[in-house]
Amino acid sequence: MKESYLIKPLLDENYPVAAYGKGIYLYDSEGKEYIDGSSGAVTAGIGHGVLEIAAVMKEQAEKVSFVYRSQFSNEPAEKLAVKLKSWAPGDVNWTFFVNSGSEATETALKVALQYWQEKGKPTKTKVLSRWMSYHGITLGALSMSGHVGRRERFTPLLEDFPTLNPPYCYRCPFNRTYPECALHCAKELETAIRRIGADHIAAFIAEPIIGASGAAVVPPDGYYETISEICKRNDILFIADEVMTGIGRCGTRFAIDHWNVTPDIMALGKGLGAGYAPIAATMISDRVMEPIFKGSKLIMSGHTYSANPQSAAVALTVLNYIERHNLIEQSRNVGAYLKDQLKVLQQKYPMIGDVRGRGMLTGVEFVSNIFNKLPFASEIHVSRTIIERAMKKGLIVYPASAGVDGLGGDAVIIAPPLVTKKEEADKIVRLFDQTVKEVQDELQ
Ligand code: PLP
Repeated sequence: MKESYLIKPLLDENYPVAAYGKGIYLYDSEGKEYIDGSSGAVTAGIGHGVLEIAAVMKEQAEKVSFVYRSQFSNEPAEKLAVKLKSWAPGDVNWTFFVNSGSEATETALKVALQYWQEKGKPTKTKVLSRWMSYHGITLGALSMSGHVGRRERFTPLLEDFPTLNPPYCYRCPFNRTYPECALHCAKELETAIRRIGADHIAAFIAEPIIGASGAAVVPPDGYYETISEICKRNDILFIADEVMTGIGRCGTRFAIDHWNVTPDIMALGKGLGAGYAPIAATMISDRVMEPIFKGSKLIMSGHTYSANPQSAAVALTVLNYIERHNLIEQSRNVGAYLKDQLKVLQQKYPMIGDVRGRGMLTGVEFVSNIFNKLPFASEIHVSRTIIERAMKKGLIVYPASAGVDGLGGDAVIIAPPLVTKKEEADKIVRLFDQTVKEVQDELQ
C-alpha cells in the first residue's frame, strides 16, 4: 500500500496486507499463503472464512444491528447469556457483555469492589495478581497485570496490584521442585494476605494458564485448589481471566475446568467472537450477584456497544459451531498431538528449553543453554527472529515473554484454530522445525 496513515504496532514496519482467509490459512494481497499458527492473537478459534457466520451477520444486520442496553434488551444477547450459563462452571451464571478482554477484566475488578461495598465492606479494594501475567491494556486492567514491559511507561498511574510469584515450574522463582515445594507459589497468597490484610483485598485474579507473558505456563497439580481454598477462607473473590484460555482453547470449555475449582468471576474475550466480532464478557456467579440484586440492583459499568446484537449473534453462532463440530475435543486431541510433536523438536534443537501448554495453547521457550536454562541475551532478539523467519516460510506464531521478572526470556505461542486437523498440525511442526533449524544454525 503506497499511502498509509494507519498507526501500526511498529511504526516503521511494512506489514503484509491480509486479503483472504479460509480455515487455518490466511492469504495476503500478493497471494502468499500463511498458516495461522496463532489464530491471530489466539482469537480465531473456529478458523477463517466460516460462511455460516457471514450469513448470521447479514441476517442480524438486516433485522437490527444496534440497540442501546439501557433502552432495549435483544434476543441474540439473551440467548448468548443462556448458552454461556450452560458452558460455565458451577454457579457462574450471569453475563455482562463488553467489547474487549481488557474491558472484561476491568469490569471484573469493578464488580469485585462493588460486591464488597454491597456487603458493607468498602475497604476491600485491592485486587492481588501475579507477576508474569497480562490482564489487559486499559489502566485498571494494566494495574492488575504483572507485565513489566507494558506497565513501565505508566507506572505513576497504576495501582501496585501484582504481588505473587508465578507458578512457573520450569524456572521456579523459589528454586524448588514440585511436589517437594508443597505449592509454595500458591501458599504465597496467604503470606500476601497477611501482610496487606484481608480487609483491604477484594479479589485475586489469575490467567488459569499464563498466556502472553509466560507462553502457556501450566501450574502444578493442586495449585488452583490451594488458591481457591485460601481465597475462600480469607473472604477474597477469585477471578479467572479466561480471555485467552477460554472457549475451548485449552481442550476444555474453560481452562479452569482442568482444576476442581469454580471461580467467583470469569473474564472472557478473544475466542468468544473468534475474530468475527469484537465481543467479550464478564461472567459472575450467583454468590456475587446476590448482594448486588439485594442492594443497588445495578452493575456500575457499561459501554455503548455492550450486548451489541450483531456481536452477540456472531458469538452465539461461534459457540454453536464449536459444539456441533466437537471442537473442544479436537482442541484437546490435536493440541496434545501438536505438543508431542514439538517435544520431538525439543530433542533435536538444544535452543528449545521447554514445550508446554494444554489443548491448542502451546508455548515454546528458547534458552542458550539447556542445562542451566540461561536465556539468550535480549539484544539477539531470538523470539523476534523466530517469528520473522516463520512468517517468511508462511507460518504465523505469537510472541510471548518468559522471564520470571516479566522482562526478557524468549518464547513463542503456537495456538492454531481449534479446527486444525492432525495433518495440518504436522505441517505447522514441519515449518517450525525448518525455522528453528535455520535460527539455531545461525546462532552457533
Ligand atoms: N487477558 C488476557 C489473559 C489476555 O491475553 C488479553 C489479551 O491478550 C487480555 C486480557 C486483554 O484483551 P484485549 O486485548 O481484548 O483487550
